[in-house]
Amino acid sequence: MAPLLTFDDGPAPDTERLLDVLAEHQCHAVFFLVGKHVAARAQLVRRMSADGHTLGNHTWDHPDLRQLSLSAIREQLRRTSEVIEATAGVAPRYFRPPFGYSNRAIDALAGGLGLSKMMWTVGTDDWRDPGVPAIVASICGAPADAVVLLHDGPRRRGQTVQAVAEALAARRAEDPLDPAKRPASREEIPHL
Ligand SMILES: [Zn+2]
Repeated sequence: MAPLLTFDDGPAPDTERLLDVLAEHQCHAVFFLVGKHVAARAQLVRRMSADGHTLGNHTWDHPDLRQLSLSAIREQLRRTSEVIEATAGVAPRYFRPPFGYSNRAIDALAGGLGLSKMMWTVGTDDWRDPGVPAIVASICGAPADAVVLLHDGPRRRGQTVQAVAEALAARRAEDPLDPAKRPASREEIPHL
């Protein structure tokens, strides 16, 4: 088992390059998609699914859900699941609240829509562009059962893509035959 890489806030301009990197290293990840961006990059979203990645729900336009009415929260989640399923043919089973902000009522509502909350156990601070080496160190230092938070959107994420490429190359170089070092498969995704 290897740390599970998760990417929030896409699909976006650097998502395609990221998919190339993940494919090169046969690494399966989870993408928490922002619903309003899905239609514009439908091809990429279909490729995510075809490449074996898991598609998650990150709301329609990334609000702080705690500030919304329950009916507005339901719309945020429902519309996003709908566009993902219409685009990729699979309904998301996981959601991640924007900024990690949620509460019991939000989690229960999401559960009613068939969505389990998946948070993260290791942050990389990649959202503030700390430099490629810092992001690589966070990924490579993550324990085997970690869920790692990264971002492929909404703006350019050159540092993140480069860091993932270097971290996966380092992981493979360590011991390419050790099953424990193999990237996570879809079946290994924990239910958090
Ligand atoms: Zn986000």
